Amino acid sequence: MNAELRYEGVQSSTLDRIRCNRHDDSGNAVVPRRSGGGEPLRCCLTIAGAGENIALVAYRPMTAGGPYAEVGPVFIHTADCAAPDAGSFPIDFRDRRAALRPYDADGQMLDGVVADPGTGEVELKRLFEDPAVDTVQVRNVVAGCWNFTVRRQG
Ligand SMILES: [Zn+2]
Repeated sequence: MNAELRYEGVQSSTLDRIRCNRHDDSGNAVVPRRSGGGEPLRCCLTIAGAGENIALVAYRPMTAGGPYAEVGPVFIHTADCAAPDAGSFPIDFRDRRAALRPYDADGQMLDGVVADPGTGEVELKRLFEDPAVDTVQVRNVVAGCWNFTVRRQG
């Protein structure tokens, strides 16, 4: 099976809500800051350069709920930005090590892997060969922070 994959950052409706309300869904105020450079942005799935207007907010990437539906910290732009290209692995994230955590359709975690820089796309395709895998969360290896979610197209 050669699944076409879809790459999703923070949902646009959630971004709109956070930016409009000036707080995240956990009630934390949006505190604008200037990026130092290198922050992974989950709105447009790019890595920040120095001096961009960003904020660290709490986000729950799993919409299904359940015990694995963790809330964690993510950097976003404080103003509107370009939506990521859902059809391709985010270029800025290709050369990072990443933990790939697969989940089934009920939101239960399956066996994941750590992908070395440059291997994320290949490892994702391999994970999706298992029909039980519904989504895969790409996360930071050390901090565990969610970067983006991958699912089958359509
Ligand atoms: Zn952005």
